[in-house]
Amino acid sequence: MEMNVISFFNLLVVVILVQKCYSVKKETYNIGIIFNEPSSQSELPLNDTIVRNNIIEKETSVSLSSKVQVVSKIDIFDTSKQICNLIDDGVVAILGPSTYVTSPVVESTCKNLNLPYIVTSWRMTSFEESDVFLNFHPDADKLAKGIADIVRSLGWVGIIILYEEEEGLVKLQEVLKLQNLKRTDNHDFIRVQHLTDGPDYRPLFKKFRNTTENNIILDCKTENILPILTQAKSLDMLDIRFNYFLTSLDAHTVDYSSLNVTANITTIRIFDYNSEEFLNALQKWGITAFEFFKTPLYLTPTSIKTETALFQDALTYLTAALKDLPYLPESKVNCFADDKYMNGFSIINATRHKEDLPTITGPIKFDDFGNRIDFNIYVYTLDEDQLIGTYQALNETMVFARTSEETSLAATSNLKKVKVMVSTRIGNPFLMEVTPQDGQILEGNDRYEGYTKDLMDEIAKNIDFTFELHITEGNLFGSYLEDQKRWTGLIGDLLERRAHLALCDLTITHQRQSVVDFSMPFMTLGISILHKSPAKDPTRTFAFLEPFGTSVWIYSATLYLVVSIILYFIARMTPGDWENPHPCDDKPKVLENIWTLQNCHWATLGTIMNQGCDILPKGISSRFALAMWWFFALIITNSYIANLTAFLTKANLEPPIKNVEDLSKQSKIKYGCLEKGSTEQFFKDSNITMFQKMYTFMKTTRPSVFESENIDGVNRVLNDKKGLYAFLMESTQIEYYVETNCKLKQIGDWLDTKSYGIAMPMNAPYRGAIDKAILELQETGKLGELKTKWWKKKIKKMPCDENNNIDKDDNSNDLDIARTFGIFLVLLVGVSIAILLGLVEFLWNVRNISVEEHLSFWEALKIELKFAVNIWITKKKIKVVASDTSSSSGKSDRSDKADKKSAIHNFLHTASSFMNLNADT
Ligand code: GLU
Repeated sequence: MEMNVISFFNLLVVVILVQKCYSVKKETYNIGIIFNEPSSQSELPLNDTIVRNNIIEKETSVSLSSKVQVVSKIDIFDTSKQICNLIDDGVVAILGPSTYVTSPVVESTCKNLNLPYIVTSWRMTSFEESDVFLNFHPDADKLAKGIADIVRSLGWVGIIILYEEEEGLVKLQEVLKLQNLKRTDNHDFIRVQHLTDGPDYRPLFKKFRNTTENNIILDCKTENILPILTQAKSLDMLDIRFNYFLTSLDAHTVDYSSLNVTANITTIRIFDYNSEEFLNALQKWGITAFEFFKTPLYLTPTSIKTETALFQDALTYLTAALKDLPYLPESKVNCFADDKYMNGFSIINATRHKEDLPTITGPIKFDDFGNRIDFNIYVYTLDEDQLIGTYQALNETMVFARTSEETSLAATSNLKKVKVMVSTRIGNPFLMEVTPQDGQILEGNDRYEGYTKDLMDEIAKNIDFTFELHITEGNLFGSYLEDQKRWTGLIGDLLERRAHLALCDLTITHQRQSVVDFSMPFMTLGISILHKSPAKDPTRTFAFLEPFGTSVWIYSATLYLVVSIILYFIARMTPGDWENPHPCDDKPKVLENIWTLQNCHWATLGTIMNQGCDILPKGISSRFALAMWWFFALIITNSYIANLTAFLTKANLEPPIKNVEDLSKQSKIKYGCLEKGSTEQFFKDSNITMFQKMYTFMKTTRPSVFESENIDGVNRVLNDKKGLYAFLMESTQIEYYVETNCKLKQIGDWLDTKSYGIAMPMNAPYRGAIDKAILELQETGKLGELKTKWWKKKIKKMPCDENNNIDKDDNSNDLDIARTFGIFLVLLVGVSIAILLGLVEFLWNVRNISVEEHLSFWEALKIELKFAVNIWITKKKIKVVASDTSSSSGKSDRSDKADKKSAIHNFLHTASSFMNLNADT
């Protein structure tokens, strides 16, 4: 647009010529214009208004001309001089300048002279009664209220205000009031930062990078918007996680294409591009410029500044008022006389009360001080320049232009432009690493499988974006480190802007929710106890030993030996046990005592085995000793039987703990949980005495009962042979591990109820879309399907042997082979030893026969075997010698030949007599 002051002289010449031509006597009104720079865009409406009034609408009663002065933006002295020149030329009103530095000079001069003064730029709200002042720019206080209402309507909490000039704080004074003074968390925290030490604002941006606030209100000069946002972009602070609100009413004139913005940027302006009035004005300006000033113009809506639009409206109002006024008496004033302009009040009054004029900037109304109190603020998104809503300043209401559906759609449109980073962690069955097949190279998300990946796939499909899974450092969920004043794991990733979303079995906790936002829950759960199913221990072969402790077994065995020996001595001492070997012989030459050591042991053994014995003592003391032993045996045997039943039947093998109360009341079974997870936090923060007690127990138990991964806790439960470790875990995990391993079982109910959610930076614009996607997945049953897939179908079950496969609800009290196998084993071993002994005895006898009969060993073996294996032969010829040496049955007379027996034979004989008392009788 090539416009300059010279063109106005052309205009004036045209105006004079036209007047002369038509020789119509018209009032000519000079309008004083003050610009701060030559070739201002405001010349467009100025030229257009004058041309339209004087040439196109020929029949108008007044003729207009303009007196333009270009004054310095900051030089007050120069400005006052120029104004006086302008006033000397005889103007009916003064418009401008735009800067609030020099405009007070103009204002005070005009006030002194009662000259109408019309402003079209931002200035503080005027509270001075004035008959000659009007500001077409929205009133500062009303605008501030409007901005605050718009910010509130955006639903922002946690805001960073960046302002460049002091006036910015006036604009944002109402926004500051949005912070609740009785804050309980950081949600509505407002940080205010003055943009000083420019033009490099990156250090300032860095300061805010890792805070929880990601809503930024930027109040700066329009020409600085692009450089500042470029710096934000260089720090990755212009991506989808951030929301920006630009307070400049000219933000639409900036070309943002170089920024490739994915952040959600909201802009405001006070005119609507699509309004008929605006489009008409745009067209008229173009025609005037081309037809009357031969300046071809290409005007786009985005190139029109707010001041230009306001200037047009001010001129429309002023000219309409001038035309309406019947007669303005001549009234000359100058800066140095005391005169007052006579028409000042009537011009301003007529202008103020004009109604129903076509305006670009919407409804116009002024208060008594000349502040514009009626206007509209149009709220747009930068992305596709969509109208969000219109704020009506007069009644302080926001009218939304989009349905909530459209709003959430618009919010997610930016998601499509980026690869969404999803921070997650490895943990069954949420995310597991895929083992590549031979030669297969897995990349990106293909490296993982599990519930998290499938859920994320579904959400991404629903919203239509792409994502990348990224395993968080240390595979941590996210806890706050007091000493380092930072968050770890997934929460840390969100806060330090490494991820857009965080998804795994991440529990929604109030502590986390104070720094990040959570989507609606996708799974509900509670803490419960994971323990080992006792019926499934295959290592209980010698379960029959369990009724007594080792010490009881040792004491009993020792007592058996000691009592047997004592009985032996008592029986030797007591006369009752010295008996006549031949009862028919009245006067026996010898007395016999049958209580050899062997017989003593046999008698005590028979008693404790509940079998009794075929020989019994006859002496008083020996009887008493044995009776005491019987008493002991009675108690011990019955205790054993009672305990054995209790130990071996299923009913009594039920877990020693049935719920958390049981667990908390004992200390034998140790219990722990995942370290630095929500479960530990639950116990730590609990007000319930039982949980507090449990937390103290966990904290003080050594070695530590905490585990860094759930799977470690599960393995610890499994590896503890005696079942003396229980793991407090989230029910979802318990469900999974119980399904994979039949040794595990959940004990008791949930201790609490909570949920998993997808975490994202606070106020993330895509939160609504994620919520909607989860809701849809829930309604269509997809969430349930995924749960079944990863908790039932895709499960890798640990092989369960017979023992472990016992139905957990089986109430049968039967003893199974696994638990009685030891008894069988003892019998088998015992019988095997007996067979071996029998063999040795048999071979020894064969050897003796071979020596005595002068046969070879093999011949003797053959003969003896013949008798042994032939089951039809029940009688054997007794040779003299052979009968003397006794057969293996030991039933022949042996007493005479005893001296011939070798020591080993004696031993074997003793053994056989130990087993069969007839041998010695
Ligand atoms: N889901 C838990 C969290 O988000 C971790 C597991 C636990 O603490 O039991 O912290």
